[in-house]
Amino acid sequence: MATTATERKLLIGGEWIETGEWMDVQSPYDGATVGRVAKAGATDARRALDAAEAAMREPIPAHERAAILDRVAALLAERADEAARTISAEAGKPLKAARVEAARAVSTYTMAAVEARKLVGTAVPMDVSQAGVGKLALTLRTPIGIVGAISPFNFPLNLVAHKIAPALAAGCAVVLKPASQTPLSALFLAELETEAGLPPGWLNVLCGPASEIGDVLVEDDRVKLITFTGSSSVGWKLRERAPRKRVNLELGNATPVIVAADADLDDAAARLAANAFSFAGQSCISVQRIYVERGSYDPFIERFLSHVEALRVGDPGDEDTDVGPLIAQSERDRVLSWIEDAKSRGAQVLTGGVLDGELLRPTVIAEAPLDAKVSCEEIFGPVCTISPYDTLSEAIKLANGTRYGLQAGVFTSNVKSALRAAGELEFGGVMVNEAPTFRADQMPYGGVKDSGNTREGPAYAIREMTEERLVVLQL
Ligand code: NAP
Repeated sequence: MATTATERKLLIGGEWIETGEWMDVQSPYDGATVGRVAKAGATDARRALDAAEAAMREPIPAHERAAILDRVAALLAERADEAARTISAEAGKPLKAARVEAARAVSTYTMAAVEARKLVGTAVPMDVSQAGVGKLALTLRTPIGIVGAISPFNFPLNLVAHKIAPALAAGCAVVLKPASQTPLSALFLAELETEAGLPPGWLNVLCGPASEIGDVLVEDDRVKLITFTGSSSVGWKLRERAPRKRVNLELGNATPVIVAADADLDDAAARLAANAFSFAGQSCISVQRIYVERGSYDPFIERFLSHVEALRVGDPGDEDTDVGPLIAQSERDRVLSWIEDAKSRGAQVLTGGVLDGELLRPTVIAEAPLDAKVSCEEIFGPVCTISPYDTLSEAIKLANGTRYGLQAGVFTSNVKSALRAAGELEFGGVMVNEAPTFRADQMPYGGVKDSGNTREGPAYAIREMTEERLVVLQL
């Protein structure tokens, strides 16, 4: 993969800082060093909080915050190719998917700018109770305070955007810790925010040991909200450790989809094949479990496998690649072991399950036991299961048979079935005749059960990042 190694310093208080120690960033595809970043520790994290605290003493008016966000959107659109190449190099994400992510981050900033302009409280009707007669009341939306943001490797640009853009829209300074495997996209975004005129201290970016920086964000009372996207195990522990802060969690899923016999099978097969294996299944809403009504099971499998086998596995830097590497060899080995576990318990591998060079081929598994890891835990790899069902009730029960609840899908031409599934699937979002992997950045996005406790999307995140202050006037 042709990439130029990038060197990036940390951003603290508007200055680009070296710490004397560096962390290498390596391509998950071929191990090449694609960059290095200055490594921060607890002392740098405290300095970043000092800078954020100082910044928030001089609030930026909403029109300026909105203008900065608009300028970042414009700069990002201009430099979308560079953004996509950075994502692809550090995350091993195929360029076509990386380009989609870069374009989505532009819209995340654009919508955050809209929200900055709309941030408003409400009027409270006072004379509806006797106590309120003679008074006027309204609420103001005030910034919650410093936001500690922690982001994962799999959308290293747009999921950072989903934290730092609404925070600025809300008037909050941020201390961001991006994933150690993918810090370059976050620092690229920080460079664009600086170029767009963000005053010092409003965004501080620290790369380094998760526990050390995480501990400072958890323990320092100046951090009022932690916004975390990543694995359930890390997320829920953070929340337990910070009971007096708002801790917003966007976590994993074991994404199900139901395909009824009355669905358009060609359309469903094409959409699901693309969305089970994009970025090698490393999306929190990658299609993982497909339940097909028995009468259509064989015809669906035939269509689905022909799409899956046509996917191109290879170098994420090639424009034609559909499926690249997993983020680390240890992850690839874990996924292979889950496939072996299912096979040893009677499951049948319909395609894949083997390496193509160093890369795991898209894998489809039938007859997996319900309690196998591939059936109920988050695979986070290029693997999906496929199983028949007889009634919609059974399909819904199977889909709900997981501790997760982020997004689910149903393909059917029957409106009643669609609405019933939407009502009974225990997930934050239900897609009808679309893959459950679908997300547009203005949507309220988030999960129930172990998948999280909040909704992202600038209009929803900005609510979380502000407090509602009541003002009562005696007339
Ligand atoms: P992860 O291992 O949980 O890491 C996420 C972030 O947490 C990284 O920045 C990581 O830093 C940091 N971290 C790890 N341990 C920490 C600690 N003790 N204290 C504070 N921070 C800590 O997750 P990942 O492997 O990057 O991402 C994959 C997971 O994210 C999957 O489960 C996926 O479903 C989920 N995800 C959810 C959504 C959503 O919107 N719901 C979106 C994308 C991904 P280091 O990198 O330095 O370890």
